[in-house]
Amino acid sequence: MYLGLKIRIYPNSVQKKIIDEHIEGARYVYNYFLKYAKDNKIYDDTIWKKKLYAMMKNDNNDLLNNCDYFLLLTQLDVLKTSYDRFFRGTIKNEPYFKKKGALVSAFKIHNKNDSIKIEDNKIYIKMLGYMKFRNKKDISKNKIYSAIVKKTLDDIYEVSILYENTISPIEKAYQKVGIDLGVRKFITTSDSNYYLPIDDLYKIEARIRNLQKELSKKTKESNNWYKTKKRITKLYLYKRNYIKDTLDKATTELVKNYDVVFMEDLSIKELVQQQKSKVIRRKIIESSLYMIREMLTYKCKMYNKRLIFVERLFPSSKMCSVCGSIHDPRSSETFICPVCGLSIDRDLNAAINIYKRGMAKYLNMYSTEASFGRKPTK
Ligand SMILES: [Zn+2]
Repeated sequence: MYLGLKIRIYPNSVQKKIIDEHIEGARYVYNYFLKYAKDNKIYDDTIWKKKLYAMMKNDNNDLLNNCDYFLLLTQLDVLKTSYDRFFRGTIKNEPYFKKKGALVSAFKIHNKNDSIKIEDNKIYIKMLGYMKFRNKKDISKNKIYSAIVKKTLDDIYEVSILYENTISPIEKAYQKVGIDLGVRKFITTSDSNYYLPIDDLYKIEARIRNLQKELSKKTKESNNWYKTKKRITKLYLYKRNYIKDTLDKATTELVKNYDVVFMEDLSIKELVQQQKSKVIRRKIIESSLYMIREMLTYKCKMYNKRLIFVERLFPSSKMCSVCGSIHDPRSSETFICPVCGLSIDRDLNAAINIYKRGMAKYLNMYSTEASFGRKPTK
């Protein structure tokens, strides 16, 4: 099982220059071969690689000559993987060109013959040498697979390391849970815990919008204009990390506290499209819900927990979790049952329904395990 670790690095000025050059080189090669693939309908990476080799040999391209050849080759692997996913239908869009001035620019390197190493609080990357970093987690004994070196628009340098994990098992929790994914609170559990209210994100967004208004009133490229622009960039990055960190914590908590997690096998697209909110907002919600699903899937696999999907057409949000009758909920916040009089938070009602439906499925699928799944009495 591979895991990721993101660390902030503090390169010196020479190393910064090398990173910047490789970011440029990697982007150039990626975009060049993306255009080449599109124009010629050639998606065979062995042909790309031959061509790159010829370019490196013949052209007097300073940009490429300054770069590590294997690093440039890796960008072609990245492009190839994106195309494979696109043709398989895993991703919707054809790979797109990497733009200059993106929020984060990066290049990837594979670990070949110890070209990436971690020793104490230093990371070694071939072509850059040793760099200090703040050590959050000791992975010096783990096998490192690859690293992505990133630079953000406000000149922060980071490395995301992909390493092989030796897992320390999580104890059995003897609990099961149903979760409802929603657009107001991203996760609601059947025992009424809530994770990441979307309002937190709207607050950050509102601040970004205000700053953008300020920015539009300032003289373009003046000192104050740059200052405000920098603050906007920082907020964008903050938002991105906030979502990721919160969801990471929430999903870890779920796999620690429960042995079996039930969730709806819903089409996230449909869920999002039901919302009348703005496109940008929908995008955040959509990507966050995908993230939750992905994180839960790999964490359950890693810690030997079960993730069971409840079928899409199951009317979790319309069914009363007490008497089972079905109604169109009138209010967006509370579910009120005209038959038995239940009045309950709408998402919680759905989570309980998912739990019940999931349990039925679970007992059916794993009847032996289920009978041993009770906490032993001491
Ligand atoms: Zn009822």
